[in-house]
Amino acid sequence: MTEPLFFERVAIVGVGLIGSSLALAMKRHGLAGHIVGSARSQATRDTALELGLVDSVAETGDAADGADLVVVATPVGAYAAVAAAIGPRLKEGAIVTDAGSVKGMVAPTFAPHLPAGVQLVPGHPVAGTENSGPAAGFAELFEHRFVILTPPADADPAAVAKVRALWERVGSAVEVMDARHHDKVLAITSHLPHLIAYTIVGTVTDLEDQLSGEAAANGDSVTQTEVIKYSAGGFRDFTRIAGSDPVMWRDVFLNNKEAVLEMLGRFTEDLTALQRAVRWGEGETLEAWFTRTRAIRRGIVEAGQAGTFRATEPEDG
Ligand code: NAP
Repeated sequence: MTEPLFFERVAIVGVGLIGSSLALAMKRHGLAGHIVGSARSQATRDTALELGLVDSVAETGDAADGADLVVVATPVGAYAAVAAAIGPRLKEGAIVTDAGSVKGMVAPTFAPHLPAGVQLVPGHPVAGTENSGPAAGFAELFEHRFVILTPPADADPAAVAKVRALWERVGSAVEVMDARHHDKVLAITSHLPHLIAYTIVGTVTDLEDQLSGEAAANGDSVTQTEVIKYSAGGFRDFTRIAGSDPVMWRDVFLNNKEAVLEMLGRFTEDLTALQRAVRWGEGETLEAWFTRTRAIRRGIVEAGQAGTFRATEPEDG
C-alpha cells in the first residue's frame, strides 16, 4: 500500500515546459488541492490560466503565500530573485523544491532566504524536450525518466520522502545524490553535449555562409538550403539539441562552469586523439572506438532511456 500524498496548496514558480508539465501531472494523479502558477510575464501567466494548467496565477511572492509545496521551475539564473521573493512569504512546514539542471548552487542561493521550519529539497528531472513555455507542457513528461534529488546533509528526511513520493507518483524513478556529484555527471551527459551541439550548428552555419559566398563569386550553384536538405546525415540531431532554450542553457553554463570546463578538457583530449587517428589513417583505432560507443548506445536503449513516447525526442536538460 502506498502512503497517501496530497499537497493542499502548491505554488509552481515558472510555468514553462517543466512547471506546466508537473502541474498537469499533479492534477492527473490527484496530488494537489489548489495549484497557483507564477511567471515573469503576465502573458505567460495568462496562457497558463487559459490552458487550464493551474487553478490561479499570481506574482511570485504572492504565489508562495500559504503554499505547502513550492516548485521552482525557472532558469537557474533567476533563483536569487525567486528566493528573495518567496522567502518572507513561506509558512512554517513548507517544502521548497526545484527542477533546475544545475544543483550545486541551489542550497547556497536559497538558504539565506528561507525561514526556520522551511525545508529545501533540490531536484532535477532528467526529462524534457527542446520546446519551452507553458504550451509545451504535457502530463507524461516525467514518466519512465530519472529525477535526481540533492538534499543538503541536514534536510528533514520526511520532506525528502515527500518530494521523492511526488516524483514517483508522476512516473519517475528517483535517485539521491550529492549536489556536486550531480553537476559533474550532468556536465558530461547533458551540458557538454549541448555545448557541442551549439558549437557544431554555429560552425556549419558560418561555413554555409562562406560556401554560398564563394559559390556566388565562382558562378557556382551551391544553395543556402544544402545544410537543411542533407541534414539527415547526423546534423539534424545536433540542430534539435541546439534548438533548446537559449536562456536556460546560458544559465546552465554560467552556473556549472567548473565541471563543464573539466569535462571539456577531457573531451578536447579525446577529440585530438581521434583527429590524429583520422590524419594517420589508423582504422583500427577508429573502429575500436566506434564499437565501444555503439555498445554504450545499446545500453541506453536497453535501459529504456532512449526515448520513444513523444513526437519530440526526449531531452535531458
Ligand atoms: P521554460 O519553458 O523557458 O520556462 C521557464 C519559466 O520560468 C517561464 O514561465 C518564465 O516566465 C519563468 N521565469 C523566468 N524567470 C522568472 C522569474 N524571475 N520569476 C518567475 N518566473 C520566471 O523553461 P523550462 O524548460 O521549463 O526549464 C525550467 C527549469 O527546469 C530550468 O531551471 C531548467 O534548467 C530545468 N530543466 C529543463 C529541462 C528541459 O529540457 N527544458 C529539463 C530538466 C530541467 P516567462 O515565460 O514569463 O519568461
